[in-house]
Amino acid sequence: MHLRVQRMTAKIINGVAIGAEIRKGIARDVDQLKAGGLTPGLAVVMVGADPASAIYVRNKLRACAEVGIRSFKYEFAEDTKPQAVLDLIRELNARADVHGILVQLPLPPQFALAPILQTISADKDVDGFHLYNVGGLVVGNTVFPPCTPYGVVKLLEHEGIGVEGKNVVVVGASNIVGKPMALMLMQRDATVCICHAKTRDLAQFTILADILVVAAGKPRLILPQMVRTGAVVVDVGINRLPSGRLVGDTDFDGLMEKASYITPVPGGVGPMTVTMLLANTLASAKRIAQRGT
Ligand code: NAD
Repeated sequence: MHLRVQRMTAKIINGVAIGAEIRKGIARDVDQLKAGGLTPGLAVVMVGADPASAIYVRNKLRACAEVGIRSFKYEFAEDTKPQAVLDLIRELNARADVHGILVQLPLPPQFALAPILQTISADKDVDGFHLYNVGGLVVGNTVFPPCTPYGVVKLLEHEGIGVEGKNVVVVGASNIVGKPMALMLMQRDATVCICHAKTRDLAQFTILADILVVAAGKPRLILPQMVRTGAVVVDVGINRLPSGRLVGDTDFDGLMEKASYITPVPGGVGPMTVTMLLANTLASAKRIAQRGT
């Protein structure tokens, strides 16, 4: 007698293709705004020369150009005094041609993050990190959904994966990814569990997930035996191995035979993050135009 093992072949969720489709729609809307005399503008502020940050900033500026959003880049030296950045942010808050302001993180150690994030006008906070926008997220009245979890929601929507009533496990509880991700899915009526570095026996939680979102920054944290057959796996992690290869937080090859859907790294969540930044900048320009300020 043969023992039958249930094997799946996961569908790979293509963030590049889905992002490109969304960007086409954004470009059309930007064209329309421009025809009415308004060009959406995004200001990107970078302090220091962290190579990964430099790549992210370059990608964001290139993506703006591709959809017709005007971008303004501001670079400061690593040893810049925080006051200089705060002064620039106040100037950008007042400018009519800037609809979104983004300060690339992480910042050098002399910076306290909170004053920087709270100085960005809540109306131009396209990253969604200002306390006003965090509060909006908590009560389900979001103005600017943080770009990475917003991108994950769009990926799930695009694939027709419903979240209502589903068990969702989010691994990672940062302010940038894990916490807003959990809030956004709870708002959509999922049953959400958040795990983090102090969680005891991670597998006892991950095994319950219909949808597993992993954002821990640890290669091979999630192995196939920790995941239910047929689960949806979204890998937000970006890790560079000593060989130079980029990988996520999950055993992608192993999970291909276990999950029903999986996002690759690279090419999954990453391109969606940039896409949702464009979407938030466009939304901000529309809101400001409607209010006539
Ligand atoms: P972070 O370091 O701020 O937070 C990591 C979280 O994971 C923490 O809550 C921590 O408690 C948890 N964690 C760490 N080790 C764990 C473990 N062994 N078990 C369970 N939980 C653990 O990181 P972040 O900014 O939230 O980013 C997480 C990952 O996502 C990183 O790899 C980052 O590069 C990536 N990221 C990707 C995108 C994208 O666009 N794809 C955007 C932002 C971050």
